[in-house]
Parts: sequence; structure tokens; C-alpha cells
Amino acid sequence: MNIVLFGPPGAGKGTQSALLVERLSMRHISTGDLLREEIKKSTRLGTEAKQYMDKGELVPDLVIIGMVEGLLKELGERSIILDGFPRTVPQAESLEKMFAGLGRQISKAIFLEVPRNLLLSRLTGRRVCSSCGSVYHVDDKPSKAAGVCDVCGGAVVQRKDDSGDVIETRLEAYEKSTSPLREYFLKKGKFISIDGVGETEAVFGRIQSQLV
Ligand code: AMP
Repeated sequence: MNIVLFGPPGAGKGTQSALLVERLSMRHISTGDLLREEIKKSTRLGTEAKQYMDKGELVPDLVIIGMVEGLLKELGERSIILDGFPRTVPQAESLEKMFAGLGRQISKAIFLEVPRNLLLSRLTGRRVCSSCGSVYHVDDKPSKAAGVCDVCGGAVVQRKDDSGDVIETRLEAYEKSTSPLREYFLKKGKFISIDGVGETEAVFGRIQSQLV
């Protein structure tokens, strides 16, 4: 099974992907996480991507597609969950071509629907572990000790792109470039919209019921 999970920033893609990985043993591919790894390692790709990410803009399609292509080839037979990719129609078209070459196809494209006011409060309050990537929220899910990750003891920080104007730019980029994917996947008969509001487990239950 090859699932695309998409939606606006703050919709809960990372949180729900983590549950899919844990409970259904799917392989998680998050282009955002991959790019942050490249930045940490100060690679050329990371340095290029950072300029866009810090501003809240999308990284150019060719960069993203090249990064994912290499990875897909190494996957073997495992079910995968694509989190944050594709984010544009050209990325979706490339993904379908890459999949065709590998004998895979997109099984379902799951869209997480969350109203804007909730997206804003989730994004501004979000904190992440700089070491293991665990996700917290200042009000809804604080770490036990301030600034320290419950899971690995790493530093819990705010993502640079989770503040002020950058959030606005990310939401605009979503509206302009990613929301057309709804129509794209609808036409292909793969689109499933899930209500992304509520407890993490409740949202996960809604997703799971669509995967049978
Ligand atoms: P995320 O962790 O999914 O919120 O992604 C963080 C940032 O990485 C985005 O705001 C973009 O700058 C960049 N990014 C991640 N995935 C993509 C993608 N598929 N296409 C373009 N840019 C991406």
C-alpha cells in the first residue's frame, strides 16, 4: 500500500504518520524531515533548501523530486506513507511516473482537513525535539521538563519556520501550490478527505477506517 498524506501545514501529517509507522509498520517518507537532515549535515542540497524553508517557501520541484527518486529505489516491497510529498501537481505527476517504473501506484491520497484558526494555534505552539523529532505543543502537549524531550532527552525547540510571517507564507504556498492536489487526486479517484480536528487517536481512527 502506498499512501499519500497531504494537507496544510499544521494539519497533523507528521503526528499521524508516526502512528501509521508504529501501528501498521509502514515506511515513513517525509520530505520535510529529509530536508532538515540535509541541513543538519550541511550538504549542498541542505544549504540550497534552507534558503526556501526559512522563508516558508516551497523548495523547487526538481530538487525535491531528485531527492525522493533515489530513496524510492531503495524501498523494496514495503508499504509506504508519503508525508508532505507530493506538494505540487508537477511533483504528483513525477511521483506517478517514478512509481510506474517501480511497479507501484498511489493507493490513496488522504487529505487532512483542519480550519485555519486551528492551524495557526497548532503551528505557533508547536515545539519539536531537535534530536529525535518528537513533537510537542506548549499548551496541549508540553514536554514534562521544559525544553527537554521526554523520549530522548534532546533539546525541545521551536522550528524556525513555525513563527510569525513565515507561517503566513507557508499557508499561502499551500493554498497556491498544494491545494490543487485535491482536484488532481479527486479526478484520479484516489482522494479521501479526513476531518483532522480532534484527539490524535480519533483522527487516526478515521484514517485507519479508510485503509481497509
Ligand atoms: P514540513 O516539515 O513538511 O512542514 O516541510 C517544511 C518545509 O520543507 C516546507 O515549508 C518546504 O519549504 C519544504 N518542503 C518539504 N516538503 C516539500 C515538498 N514536497 N516540496 C517543496 N518543498 C517542501
